[in-house]
Amino acid sequence: MSLDDGTARHRVVIIGSGFGGLFGTKALKNADVDVTMIAKTTHHLFQPLLYQVTTGILSEGEIAPPTRVILRKQRNAQVLLGEVIDIDLENRTVTSQLLERTTVTPFDSLIVAAGADQSYFGNDQFAEFAPGMKTIDDALELRGRILGAFEQAELSHDHEERQRLLTFVVIGAGPTGVELAGQIAEMSDNTLKGAFRNIDATEARVILLDAAPAVLPPMGPKLGKMAADRLTRMGVEIQLGAMVTNVDADGLTVREKDGTERRIEAQCKVWSAGVSASKLGKILSAQSGVELDRAGRVKVLPDLSIPGNPNVFVVGDMMAVDGVPGMAQGAIQGSTYAAKAIKAGLTGQQPAERKPFKYFDKGSMATVSRASAVAKVGKFEFGGFIAWLMWLGLHLWYIVGYQNRVVTLMSWAVTFLTNKRGQMTVTEQQVYARTALDALQEIEVNGRSSVAIPPVHTSSPAKALPKQDDEKAS
Ligand SMILES: Cc1cc2nc3c(=O)[nH]c(=O)nc-3n(C[C@H](O)[C@H](O)[C@H](O)COP(=O)(O)OP(=O)(O)OC[C@H]3O[C@@H](n4cnc5c(N)ncnc54)[C@H](O)[C@@H]3O)c2cc1C
Repeated sequence: MSLDDGTARHRVVIIGSGFGGLFGTKALKNADVDVTMIAKTTHHLFQPLLYQVTTGILSEGEIAPPTRVILRKQRNAQVLLGEVIDIDLENRTVTSQLLERTTVTPFDSLIVAAGADQSYFGNDQFAEFAPGMKTIDDALELRGRILGAFEQAELSHDHEERQRLLTFVVIGAGPTGVELAGQIAEMSDNTLKGAFRNIDATEARVILLDAAPAVLPPMGPKLGKMAADRLTRMGVEIQLGAMVTNVDADGLTVREKDGTERRIEAQCKVWSAGVSASKLGKILSAQSGVELDRAGRVKVLPDLSIPGNPNVFVVGDMMAVDGVPGMAQGAIQGSTYAAKAIKAGLTGQQPAERKPFKYFDKGSMATVSRASAVAKVGKFEFGGFIAWLMWLGLHLWYIVGYQNRVVTLMSWAVTFLTNKRGQMTVTEQQVYARTALDALQEIEVNGRSSVAIPPVHTSSPAKALPKQDDEKAS
């Protein structure tokens, strides 16, 4: 199906509804263009607060409002749900797919803001047992895995098994890992304290490990040490210089710097160690010759376009620009710049006349626990309560929608004042759907699955999966 209706207006297609996609679309609000935003989710996800969905502070709706509702008043914007599977630079079309339906959308200008996925550095098999935290699905699955481990420990009479069930390992000591480790520790020490009869939730062991020698490397040694000290006081074990070499259902193996290997028994593992840019970068590279960096990010020109295609911009986590971090501000500023370039083009500006994209560093922050964060703003580096208040204010400001802000503020008040969490619900589908779907997909392709029945021991997922030997007969 082609959506080309022969309109004379300049057609802008934007891929992605994250920070880059949404802010790019909004920046074109009053422009004389038709904007089509194509994204594979119906929502705009505020990724910085995903860990609070994982740990039961916020609901998914608070951080992921529907994009078409956000944009309902922007008359020149249309939102299409679908996964972009191809970009044709010569014919200037984008092909997307929703279920069995293929849609081809023509463009005059294109902003590609498809973000990044988790990277397992070539060990994708780790994903089965150590999911990442990039999407709402991920956050809900992790919530189920974390709380599910406590539930199983309550039922276990075996000391070693209990220890394994009550050991939580977060791999990757960047901002996401720090925030998540801190919240798992707070949840077990406060919210779950006294809620079980056979186990003491406060005895849960939380390990934050990284192959790098420091916590929060991008924020510098001072803030990294501040965050590490705070986590240590909260009982989080920090293990640095530890490279993960294997992950399985019951634990992981790490290699120390001296080459020795050791095993950590832990049912619940979370991967927050690396990113790999959207595969759409490869499509652009194959057609335009633009280079990709090691993480698959597109080495864009100074105006964020790609060679030979001055009206095709790559922004956000997909772009490789020196000095621009893979953070929300990079995506917001990049897509706003691209929107301005498109608007300027309508009034006759030539691509050669564009001023290069310049990133304005507004600083970076990470929360460590309730009432404690670290912040870097220009030359100033500080931590503690003031940084935490700034973190709260800033994140509240950037959450989309008045209602979401109010609800988030109330949820925070409940959690931070009473230690209670309003979103502790866990469902079976939450925990098993990803691995069950992976298994089904493999069965569809190969006739049988190498993906194990999900690692949490219950008979339910087996019910959801067809027996492999019976697959052909059924
Ligand atoms: C857990 C976590 C915590 C973070 N914390 C912070 C923080 O505290 N501060 C900060 O500044 N940054 C933080 N970041 C980074 C920040 O969220 C990203 O830098 C930012 O979201 C990048 O914006 P983007 O638009 O490039 O990509 P995204 O926001 O990831 O958006 C990508 C969009 O593209 C869509 N998409 C992807 N592939 C396709 C396809 N093939 N077809 C159609 N649509 C597609 C996705 O559905 C999504 O809508 C965090 C990230 C994570 C994962």
